Amino acid sequence: MSKVVVVGSANLDLGVGVPHLPRPGETVLGSDVVASPGGKGANQAVAAHRLGADTLLVAALGADRFGVDLRTALEREGLPLEQVVTRDGAATGIALIVVDATGENTIVVAPGANAHLDGAALTGLPALLGPGDVVVLQLEIPLETCVAAARHARRAGARVLLNAAPLPPAGSGALSELLREVDVLVVNEGEAQQLGGDATALRHRGPAACVITLGARGAISADPTGTRTHPPFRVDAVDTTGAGDSFCGALAAALAAGSDLDQAVRRGCAAGALATTRMGAQSAMPTATELDLLLA
Ligand code: ATP
Repeated sequence: MSKVVVVGSANLDLGVGVPHLPRPGETVLGSDVVASPGGKGANQAVAAHRLGADTLLVAALGADRFGVDLRTALEREGLPLEQVVTRDGAATGIALIVVDATGENTIVVAPGANAHLDGAALTGLPALLGPGDVVVLQLEIPLETCVAAARHARRAGARVLLNAAPLPPAGSGALSELLREVDVLVVNEGEAQQLGGDATALRHRGPAACVITLGARGAISADPTGTRTHPPFRVDAVDTTGAGDSFCGALAAALAAGSDLDQAVRRGCAAGALATTRMGAQSAMPTATELDLLLA
C-alpha cells in the first residue's frame, strides 16, 4: 500500500472563550483554557491515519513540556513518530485561539520549533519514499523546507499534495517555485482569491490538479480532464475547526489508496463534513467506519 507522508507543523492549541474579542489595549476575562493538539501538519496526519492510511509525520517539537504532551498525544493515535524531531533550545509551536460568543475567533500562532523544521530534518525522507506515495505539505513550516520535501518526493516518484495555508505575504517567489513542484493543490475560497484565480487558473501556476474547498457548499476540482463541482454532505455542524485538515488528510489517504481525483475529493468532502459535527480539530477527525457510513 502506498504511504501518506505529512511534512508539516505540530502545535499545541490553547483556546479561551470570551464574551467579546478584546480591542487593542483591552483586557477581557475568559473561560478556563482548553489545551488540545493541533498544527495543520499533525491534524492532517491524524486525519489520514484514522482513515486507515499508512501514515508518517515529519515535524519538529520543542524541548519543553508542551512537546512531551504533543508527542504523547500523537503516540496515542498510533502514528509512527521516528521522523518527529525535538529541537533543543526551541519552544513547541503554540496557537493562541480566542473565540467570542458568536463563534468569531482570532488566532495567533507562535511557530517555535516549526520554524526550525529545516532540510536537515528531511535527511531520512528519500529512503522512506517510493512511487505512488503522497507527500502532504502545508505552509506552517519554512517554504524552503516544503520545496526541498517536494523535490525529494518528485525524485522518488511520489506525488505532492500542497494545502497552501496559511498563505505567505503576496509576491513570495518561493511559493511560485513550490507550486511548480506540486501535483495537487488544495486551497479554500479565500486562499484561491488571494492567489488570484479559479481552479483552472491556479493549475497554470504548476499543479496538474487543483481543488478549492467551499465550506458548507462542498468543493470544486480541476484537472486535465475538466472542472467538476462536488456537492456537500448535509450534516449538523457544531464546530468547523479542522474541516479543511480533515478534507486534506482524507484526500491524501484516498489518492494513496489508488482513488482517482473525483473519488478522492468526494471522500475529502465527507471527511470535512464529519469533522464539523464534533468540537476540536484532531479529536473531530472521523474514522474509516464513520466515513464509509456517510458515503454508503
Ligand atoms: P478550516 O480552516 O475551518 O479547517 P477550510 O476553510 O480550510 O476550513 P472548508 O472549505 O471550510 O475548509 O472545509 C473543507 C471541506 O469540509 C469542504 O470542502 C466541505 O466539503 C466540508 N465542510 C466544511 N464545512 C461544512 C459544513 N458546514 N457542512 C458540510 N460540509 C462541510
